[in-house]
Amino acid sequence: MRRVLAAISLLLAATTANADRPTVYRLEIVLDPPTGSIEVRGEVGVTLSTVGPRVLPLRLHEGFEVRRVSLDGQPLEVTTVPAEATRLQPATQLVKIHLPATVEDPEIQLQVEYGGHLNRLPQFGTPAAEGEDRFLDDTIDAERVELAWYSAWYLQLGDFGQTFEADLLVALPKGWTLVGLGEPSPPTQSGSRTRVRWSAKAIQDLVLIASPDFEVVRVQQDDGTVEIYSSRLPRPFVKRQAEEIRTALELFEQTLGRAEGTSATVRLVYSPRKAGQGGYSRAPLIVASEGVVLDGLAEGEVTSMLGGLAHEAAHFWWHFGVGQGDWMNETFAEYFARFAVERILGEERPLARAQRAVSRLPDDAPPLAEVPADNSGDGYTIRYFKGSLMLDALRTALGDEAFFALCREFYLAFRGRRIGTREFHSFWQPRLGEHAALLDLWLDSPGAVPASTGPKAEL
Ligand SMILES: [Zn+2]
Repeated sequence: MRRVLAAISLLLAATTANADRPTVYRLEIVLDPPTGSIEVRGEVGVTLSTVGPRVLPLRLHEGFEVRRVSLDGQPLEVTTVPAEATRLQPATQLVKIHLPATVEDPEIQLQVEYGGHLNRLPQFGTPAAEGEDRFLDDTIDAERVELAWYSAWYLQLGDFGQTFEADLLVALPKGWTLVGLGEPSPPTQSGSRTRVRWSAKAIQDLVLIASPDFEVVRVQQDDGTVEIYSSRLPRPFVKRQAEEIRTALELFEQTLGRAEGTSATVRLVYSPRKAGQGGYSRAPLIVASEGVVLDGLAEGEVTSMLGGLAHEAAHFWWHFGVGQGDWMNETFAEYFARFAVERILGEERPLARAQRAVSRLPDDAPPLAEVPADNSGDGYTIRYFKGSLMLDALRTALGDEAFFALCREFYLAFRGRRIGTREFHSFWQPRLGEHAALLDLWLDSPGAVPASTGPKAEL
């Protein structure tokens, strides 16, 4: 394991140290959902890793045209090249900004102007997506706007997971309701448009979701508010969701302390999609697919969404694993979701599904310490479920009090940082006492549940 971890830590060092980073996005955005067009102008703040004449590479949606980039009023040369399509970013181009020799300060503010249309790729899980290998849930159309990291609708720099500030002034047709990250100013009307400002500090993404049909349900509890945005979900269901998610957040807060980046209002947005990829979480915002829930309700399968929602809510705390260490985010989020289901819904065997899936892993499925940050193949089962079973084995060995105290200490020690499996190991290993061997066994064993981890893990 040591050799593997050394390689991982080198990789991490290479990707995180001395990289160019975004610091702030101050953008004016004009959205025209009926035609699918977007026009963006404003400033992007960047901390450069090195100054002098060089190329600054940024990612941007492949269907957009860069109209202008300038620095201190001086237009800069910009070249664009296609970027390789990935599962998470299927439609991206590389925008190369040629910085002049006169740049001496690593803190720069680029003035940018770009726009166009999002490429129409099929939405994941819809009939149109069958047989295709590129999907995109982000869209600007007459029914909804959904914009996040996946479409690269804003100029992106470096890996996902860096934090920055945002101040977005968004114009869209009158009657539309917009949800973003951070806090909104009251909307203003001018002509046929509504303008809303969303400002945020220390966020990792620019998310905008809008619909002409959003209804908002607010649930106020002792230490915060939950707002749920949906267009077609039955109200009693939405209200119960809001109460359950609030209870889960309280449970997590009691266990781990307050999450960095959360405010008094947590927003859950059911994007009015037909299907799409699973939900995602950007504290204090959770985005889920309304169509998937409606289908579940229609078939009588869904009574509570707590499992999935609590997973996304738990990501408010668990999001600091990077690169190969991304499994930690999913493992902790999933285990805390199961913990919420156990405590709030009284489910007796919340890990039954995880145990079934892990028991079917092939003998050569990669161990947690090596599993790539990818849900394809056995990735999902290993990263979400096998990791959960590992945490459950540690909880069983240590007892609830000691286990959750260590989770809290782990969170407090690493929040705001970017860590890999090596840091996870060096935190937990010395604190496990007589159970230390259990950790290596779980981290390093390929395949299903390691053979000698005791009776509980084999349930
Ligand atoms: Zn997750």
